[in-house]
Amino acid sequence: SGRWARAMAILREFEEKCGTPIGKLRQVADAMTVEMHAGLASEGGSKLKMLISYVDNLPTGDEKGLFYALDLGGTNFRVIRVLLGGREDRVVKQEFEEVSIPPHLMTGSSDALFDYIAEALAKFVATEGEGLHPSPGQQRELGFTFSFPVRQTSIASGTLIKWTKGFSIEDTVGQDVVGELTKAMERVGLDMRVAALVNDTIGTLAGGRYYDQDVIAAVILGTGTNAAYVERAQAIPKWHGLLPKTGEMVINMEWGNFRSSHLPLTKYDQALDDDSLNPGEQIFEKTISGMYLGEIVRRVLVEMAEEAAFFGDVVPSKLKIPFILRTPDMSAMHHDTSSDLRVVGSKLKDILEIPNTSLKMRKVIVELCGIVASRGARLSAAGIAGVLKKLGRDTVKDGEKQRSVIALDGGLFEHYTKFRVCMESTLKELLGEEVSESIVIEHSNDGSGIGAALLAASHSQYL
Ligand code: ADP
Ligand code: MG
Repeated sequence: SGRWARAMAILREFEEKCGTPIGKLRQVADAMTVEMHAGLASEGGSKLKMLISYVDNLPTGDEKGLFYALDLGGTNFRVIRVLLGGREDRVVKQEFEEVSIPPHLMTGSSDALFDYIAEALAKFVATEGEGLHPSPGQQRELGFTFSFPVRQTSIASGTLIKWTKGFSIEDTVGQDVVGELTKAMERVGLDMRVAALVNDTIGTLAGGRYYDQDVIAAVILGTGTNAAYVERAQAIPKWHGLLPKTGEMVINMEWGNFRSSHLPLTKYDQALDDDSLNPGEQIFEKTISGMYLGEIVRRVLVEMAEEAAFFGDVVPSKLKIPFILRTPDMSAMHHDTSSDLRVVGSKLKDILEIPNTSLKMRKVIVELCGIVASRGARLSAAGIAGVLKKLGRDTVKDGEKQRSVIALDGGLFEHYTKFRVCMESTLKELLGEEVSESIVIEHSNDGSGIGAALLAASHSQYL
């Protein structure tokens, strides 16, 4: 019928605009490399902030002693205690506790939030078991993973640029978040020193490096997306400090904010961005990450419903609600292997209140999920290829096989199998057979917490 043809025309046009042929991906990878250079050259030189982390000392495996970590980056935070046994014994013991933040504290005062966190930390410290105490006369040390945009001023200090992810506490903005935490710990009578302040990408990089010395970069694919990598200090023109002994510096790319004229963007992406809380920002993130993939699918379905009566004469009212279709639901539909696509049918019924969909319609929806996921996955691969290119690891030099490991973490990477598989195969496609043999993608499961504790160890005052 005419309706079906019109719906298919909308789908085909969307597919065409989302196209990521290999030539386009190479342009995206090249643009990423160019922007990395620009962001390293000067502050504000690029959409890529390329933030200097002050981490010039990644874990070696020799770290020893008792260390704490605090991981704050969403509505939950985790407190972690690890006993490190050095090269032979590695992680002897690891304990953690997860605490949720009451919503009123996310929009209250800075003191109230940090007091709450410090109290939870003090309670956790009080549960130290036998053999899990600091050496006599030594202060406890903590690695603080704080995954909000921070202008770092040293390894253990940094000012909050802005809150994101639903937090809004005016009096923290512009303050040193380590100072805020330290004052709160003093108020609750907890004697602990913050030895390192990092974000989740850097924590993941450190955690990955502890287990594998060839880890050179970390990428988060979760609600948002970001990457960090190890740069030569001499290749950072905007760094005017002393050259670190190791000659290396970890850079927090904030790659979610990458944008390029080569990105295949559609009118749906444009509208999503216009309607977002941060229009014009985080464009790469808005085509790739878990917060947005399901929403893009929903927007295309709205067009098919409104312009081609895809779901019948009336547009299903639930379909009009932004963010109602979450990426985990999209993923479940995309992975439906039943012959009648019954997962797709039940998701449409339960979430969008669209009953009685035909198999033909369900197949179209699976195809739509595939288009959105594969664009995101292929662009992620192009981003990684851009980082490898910046490091000169995208080619084989003089027949020498240099192993490069990238630590990946985040719910999207972990749970959206088709996304992950597509990303990995695209990276191979971009790098070629020979180079691919020396590039390894490693899942660093919750590496950011232990990573922060390890960075506290390598920046301990007792070394
Ligand atoms: P965060 O990024 O908030 O720190 P996670 O790394 O756990 O948290 O990632 C959570 C995100 O991962 C969710 O917002 C969602 O987009 C995505 N995600 C979680 N489970 C799935 C799933 N089964 N399929 C696809 N995406 C998922
Ligand atoms: Mg996370």
